[in-house]
Amino acid sequence: MSMLSIQNLEVRHGLLKAVRGVSFEVEKGDVLALVGANGAGKTTLLRSIAGAHLPASGKILLEGKDLTHVPSHKRIAMGVALVPEGRRLFSQMTVEENLLLGRTSGRKGEWTVDRVFDAFPNLVPRRHAKTGHLSGGEQQATAIGRALMSNPDVLLLDEVSLGLSPLVVDRVYAQLQKLLTSGTTIILVEQDLGRAMSVASHVICMLEGKIALDSPASVASREQITQAYFGLHRSDSGRVAQ
Ligand code: ATP
Repeated sequence: MSMLSIQNLEVRHGLLKAVRGVSFEVEKGDVLALVGANGAGKTTLLRSIAGAHLPASGKILLEGKDLTHVPSHKRIAMGVALVPEGRRLFSQMTVEENLLLGRTSGRKGEWTVDRVFDAFPNLVPRRHAKTGHLSGGEQQATAIGRALMSNPDVLLLDEVSLGLSPLVVDRVYAQLQKLLTSGTTIILVEQDLGRAMSVASHVICMLEGKIALDSPASVASREQITQAYFGLHRSDSGRVAQ
């Protein structure tokens, strides 16, 4: 059984169909890169998986359990954690306090404050600093650490590189690389194709709310992904949604 099964999902903003009949499976331990141009529907899809935006129709199953109408706070307790675009930390609270908030889901697992500091050593000297005083890279690491503290089965990362310098993004991605060995299933929304492909085991490219390419990362060429990204060509090896 797949870790996550998305079935014929449609998500709207008012009359606008931002996600249109999207279906895909995510296997345990997969790192799925969700790529696509601005406005393709990536964030809307991710937020609907997290429960922040309920779909108009279709289904979301986590290891066979139907999450489609489960509110977001209950999804965290069931094992789905979102690191939202813009990070949304509590700026008047310290790094450690923000991390401890992630534990309120009550889920058991191996993630502790110390393990987060092992994964993100740049946070160690900032442990008692208010997150409002941190650099962008430190804030991003704290936001990812807070989500990990809920011991998620599926970690959803929205645009981790947004607003960070290339050097800092390199560091965040180097740290993400370590996470991959922990077996957490990850869905990563990323504008930067190169960075996404450096960590992905699977890639889905969205175009105007639909899936234009769905392929293991090892067999998707950069050319195929670029063509799907711009809607230039239908890939022979990747699945194309109608
Ligand atoms: P980006 O990389 O720019 O964030 P995206 O692929 O994540 O793009 P979405 O943010 O999901 O795309 O947007 C999909 C569509 O939904 C776009 O047409 C966008 O304008 C629209 N949209 C997104 N959020 C809202 C909203 N809150 N209200 C109305 N329309 C929205």
